[in-house]
Amino acid sequence: MVETRPKVCAVITEETAEAAKLAIKRAAGLADIIELRLDYLRDFDFENVERLHGLLENKPLPVIITCRDSSEGGWQKIDERIRLRLLVEGAKRFADYCDIEAAHYKKAERLLPDLSKLIVSYHDFTKTPDNLNEIYEWMKRFPAAVYKIATRANHVGDTLAVFRLLKRALDEKVTLLALAMGEAGLLTRLLGPSRGSFLTFGTLDGSRKSAPGQISCEELKSLYRIHRLTPKTPIIGIVGNPVNHSASPALHNSAFSALNRDFVYLPIEVDNLGDFFRRFVRPETRELDWDLRGFSVTIPHKIAVMPLLDEIDPTAQEIGAVNTVLVSNGRLQGFNTDVYGAIDPLRGVIDLKGARCAVIGAGGAARAVVYGLVAAGAFVTVFARDVEKAKPLADSFGVLVSPLDRIGIGDLDILINTTPVGMHGYEDNHCLVSHSALSKIQIVYDLVYNPMETRLLCDARAAGCVTIGGLDMLVAQAALQFKLWTGDNPPMETMREAARKKLHP
Ligand code: NAP
Repeated sequence: MVETRPKVCAVITEETAEAAKLAIKRAAGLADIIELRLDYLRDFDFENVERLHGLLENKPLPVIITCRDSSEGGWQKIDERIRLRLLVEGAKRFADYCDIEAAHYKKAERLLPDLSKLIVSYHDFTKTPDNLNEIYEWMKRFPAAVYKIATRANHVGDTLAVFRLLKRALDEKVTLLALAMGEAGLLTRLLGPSRGSFLTFGTLDGSRKSAPGQISCEELKSLYRIHRLTPKTPIIGIVGNPVNHSASPALHNSAFSALNRDFVYLPIEVDNLGDFFRRFVRPETRELDWDLRGFSVTIPHKIAVMPLLDEIDPTAQEIGAVNTVLVSNGRLQGFNTDVYGAIDPLRGVIDLKGARCAVIGAGGAARAVVYGLVAAGAFVTVFARDVEKAKPLADSFGVLVSPLDRIGIGDLDILINTTPVGMHGYEDNHCLVSHSALSKIQIVYDLVYNPMETRLLCDARAAGCVTIGGLDMLVAQAALQFKLWTGDNPPMETMREAARKKLHP
């Protein structure tokens, strides 16, 4: 059967009619349907329904007109009578649908709306109420073409109620658009249409969001490939908090797309990891019907995840952190791909056996780096601003520790920065190593990848060193994750390019 339903809805939140008309044109290649938010327009005569003709003539896609009541997120206060008349008459004459809040249905009904063009909606911007089923039942008493329920997810667990409701509506053959707003609700925006939701909303080229958690139509279409997703699509995620700026979805989804694999990689904001494992991950207890194959684990869960797993790979065990979970045959296995990722960019550049290495910093990334270097037979000294704090790391891997200002006392083969110094917004014009020290080093490797060209790398190149940037590690550790989850080697150049674009659009 050919799928004819719309999936991606471009929300237009322009303030002038002229800008809205241009946006309607721009939406053509990016969305399947448009929601025109009339309540955002500053120069619109709401009393004159005819004005919609000028806005909607030659529309390239079906259009939903919405003029939201200010109590349900509307941008300006518009007289109730004028607002409802504009919507009801506007849908009859110029648009394909109008959206009217359930709370105002009775008043709108008197205006004899075309029920085949009516979307009845309910919004809760503060929470996902416990009585979602009752709300749905109450709404269904109002005849309409589509029911829309948008609530706020305060944690990822709230999405489950939305998915349950979608399943119920599908069984009852009721057309429902259900979603959870906010970062924690993103799963519903991304997986909703594949589970029966009428559509999912997106912004146009980074324009204003009409609700929290909305992402762009371009991302929905090209990054998450919404149109291809089915309830059977295998799912990989990144679990952490925050996750919305992660480059990982760009890396993995671009690789899935290049290999034409039916997989999707989703950001999942998780605060309570134990709850998430119980309700979403553990095959015996999970409440969401999805083919979850694994996920990346990021801040702040890399250590806390360990007791929740069935097996932990020895490398991850020794480092004391898991950044990758594989769900296979009902079992949860933990890995750490940072070690491989950290060392891989050095392979082919230098023989690590016997190499003299300085590692600056003694945090989480340093553990992976030091472990990898020692395993490869390198001699390592950890340089830290607080030697006492760095001692446990040095002791656990049997390496030396030294104060930061002693770098450059002797010659070095490799220097690796594992501190955030040089990162955008964090001492980004600072270099922890002097020019004279750099001139005695063969290779300088900076784990920071944003910016790609850090001050340390600039100075090192000027001092004649070979330089390696953090993007190489980011891509290498992701490549190993990809192999663990899919069994395939990813297209490295595609991943690298996707990461580059994400970090430097
Ligand atoms: P972390 O656990 O917080 O450790 C940071 C380390 O840097 C600590 O030892 C800290 O020392 C030290 N440090 C911070 N500011 C410093 C300064 N001004 N001078 C000297 N030392 C300083 O962080 P992490 O997870 O290891 O991450 C560190 C960096 O590596 C981040 O920028 C991250 O983006 C990057 N990274 C990159 C990749 C990649 O794929 N390329 C992977 C992982 C991490 P104190 O303990 O004294 O504060």
